[in-house]
Amino acid sequence: MRRKLVAGNWKMNGNLAANSTLLNELVAALGTSAACDVAVCAPAPYLSQCQQQLAGSVVAWGAQDLSAHESGAYTGEVAGAMLADFGCKYVIVGHSERRAYHAESNALVAQKTLQALHSGLVPIVCVGETLAQREAGQTEQIVGEQLGAVLVLLEPAQLKRIVVAYEPVWAIGTGKTATPQMAQDVHASLRGLLAARDADAAATTAILYGGSMKPDNARELMAMPDIDGGLIGGAALKSADFLAIINAAS
Ligand code: 13P
Repeated sequence: MRRKLVAGNWKMNGNLAANSTLLNELVAALGTSAACDVAVCAPAPYLSQCQQQLAGSVVAWGAQDLSAHESGAYTGEVAGAMLADFGCKYVIVGHSERRAYHAESNALVAQKTLQALHSGLVPIVCVGETLAQREAGQTEQIVGEQLGAVLVLLEPAQLKRIVVAYEPVWAIGTGKTATPQMAQDVHASLRGLLAARDADAAATTAILYGGSMKPDNARELMAMPDIDGGLIGGAALKSADFLAIINAAS
């Protein structure tokens, strides 16, 4: 039985005061046990705040990106080891906004995944097709290429330490959600790719759904056999919504 994970991706939102309120509300509401794993992925400047407010709680924290390099002359980049220094457990890699606005290729995303693993972080590897790709019947091929570029670089032991997130680009921030069956079909094909590399990893790896997941659709999405939680954008910025999604995972 895979334990579910509900992770918030704050994207480029928040400030010290608003984060403080949100984090306090989450910690107070969740207490010492949560029915699923919970994490927030904050903008890098606020990771120290997350560490201060979340240490010892059931809420883990993580970053939204990391450098493909270990250290050196890469102005503006943040290394995996730096994220680990601030207690990060997770780091998102290959989010569609990074792929689209920062030209991140499948090969770069794969390198970032390796760096995350080398730094002791759990990479949340994002894949997803655009609307045009879905309408052209290319969904499985596109997400297969995106995940395949990562899997080919990983040793069996590393395969067991990643989280995968299926985020159809057309569902992100649009209010349009994949139906549970549409998402399940893609999740099953992603799990098949994992299984082709390592049956144990396929059985244990969490595959999250992301894209307009809200309190009113979270339960039926996460009830599907291959949907092991959610990567939540907008609804992670309000504690009531995020907590309702966490409850829906149980
Ligand atoms: P929304 O939940 O706002 O659609 O964002 C999803 C997402 O991109 C999470 O990474």
